[in-house]
Amino acid sequence: MTGRKKELINRAGEKISPREIDEVLHELPAVELAAAVGVPDELYGEEVAAFVRFRPGWKLTVSEVIAHCRARLAEFKTPRRVFFISQFPKGPNGKIQRARLLEKIPRDQPRAIVKKFRVIISAESCKACGCCAGVCPREVFSVSGQFNSRGFRPMSAARPEQCVGCLACYYACPDFALDVEPLTVTGGAN
Ligand code: SF4
Ligand code: SF4
Repeated sequence: MTGRKKELINRAGEKISPREIDEVLHELPAVELAAAVGVPDELYGEEVAAFVRFRPGWKLTVSEVIAHCRARLAEFKTPRRVFFISQFPKGPNGKIQRARLLEKIPRDQPRAIVKKFRVIISAESCKACGCCAGVCPREVFSVSGQFNSRGFRPMSAARPEQCVGCLACYYACPDFALDVEPLTVTGGAN
């Protein structure tokens, strides 16, 4: 495998060249040095992270860096985490060692992105068909103990912490009775 192939970020099967993201980051006047790399992600396998060093006297927020990238890159290529660092690991030839950038993630921040989701079920709309539970890969659902006013025992999200946000239940529900909302994405620094 060539060096360029090895460094591709694999986000849910989509191969992303970090160099394209590097170029977009370097468009920012405040950025002196930047490199993108894949970080572990429980849902997508890897997510895009950007490591950035500012020019002396310059500073941006994580949100400003992400907004700049979002305006120029496809959504799946937009960094989800941004770390501001002063020293980049480099090899003897002076090139940035991307794999070693993960060592630069501050100790108080997780290396892997942890996503959480809220599964919202309308107890009144649910007709207890069981489709959501049938497609859920994580056993999030169970049947409620109470009947709703239409005579059904609606589904409940009994184990929401197990949800990985795949949306299979959302698409399977014939009654538009449920929704899945992302709650948090852990990581980054402001
Ligand atoms: S989004 Fe996926 S994991 Fe979450 S409850 Fe629905 S089917 Fe289960
Ligand atoms: S698929 Fe929809 S209607 Fe069927 S049990 Fe689940 S929430 Fe209720």
